Amino acid sequence: MSEKSYAYFAGNFVPIDEAKISIKTHVVQYGTGVFEGIRGYWNEKEEEMYLFRLQDHFKRMMDSIKIMRIDCKHSVDELCKIAVELVGKNKNREDVYVRPLAYKASESIGPSLINNPSEFCMFTVPFGAYFKTSGGLRVVVSSWRRVEDNAIPPRAKVTGAYANTALSKTDAVLYGFDDSIVLSEDGHVSEGSAMNLFIVKNGELITTTSFDNILEGITLHTVMEIAREELRIETTRRKIDRTELYTADEMFFCGTGAEVTPVIEVDKRPVGNGQIGPISKAVQDLYHKITHGEIEKYHKWLTPVYAKKGNKIGAR
Ligand code: PMP
Repeated sequence: MSEKSYAYFAGNFVPIDEAKISIKTHVVQYGTGVFEGIRGYWNEKEEEMYLFRLQDHFKRMMDSIKIMRIDCKHSVDELCKIAVELVGKNKNREDVYVRPLAYKASESIGPSLINNPSEFCMFTVPFGAYFKTSGGLRVVVSSWRRVEDNAIPPRAKVTGAYANTALSKTDAVLYGFDDSIVLSEDGHVSEGSAMNLFIVKNGELITTTSFDNILEGITLHTVMEIAREELRIETTRRKIDRTELYTADEMFFCGTGAEVTPVIEVDKRPVGNGQIGPISKAVQDLYHKITHGEIEKYHKWLTPVYAKKGNKIGAR
């Protein structure tokens, strides 16, 4: 880890300890911020940091910003530049997580989003695997329901909505599971606590639709593309019943944090034969190679931070 870490805060790069907000701030009191989680992968051989699908994360952030009536002074390109500069300044040489946050900054009491100034910040933290197990996850269907589009829209990555995630994840862990699967109020599968979900049935990949109260994952779209291109498997997007989780041949979570992680047990029932399935493994391996810059065809998704001479991607 570098000696001194910087954050981008109120228009400047400042030492992380100086990036502080008041306890009165709207986002703290009402959860009125939107954020992204972006991974940077350190490639030791090339001494390069690759930020994964940077533009796509900031494009989605712009949608969240719009939904929550936040004003953002920066364009997607500017946000990408800030992220690259910040990781560079922090001299990160290990896998990193970049966390931009756009938020309502009023210090008055009252929930309204109007007459309420917006602010933007970004920081980075070193970040390894989200799940500490290598053998596949044991999960539970949560007793909590996913927030709905007409309550707190899940397609926006709203800070306050993560109270829903926190309740679901925490109960699962306290009950002895690795994570949870959350249903919508209509009883259909939505997604994992903070990640999307795929099942495999008879060789077909299936995931939920954007109308199932999911965050439309960038990893979900990555998985669909690599499954189609590399494994010749199309994905069907449709509603998934709870009991389809019990009869699936394979299952995996996917997300920026979760990456691609197989699930081997749901509600104390084995998924398939209780082992990591071949399609899940193939997708997981491809995703790892692609994020680390090992497959040229997918360099389109990588933004190099250091862009030193001799690097394959973005060499200057
Ligand atoms: N759903 C939720 C609720 C999440 O927090 C995340 C993680 N950002 C995802 C899905 C997966 O999205 P992505 O692949 O873009 O990280």
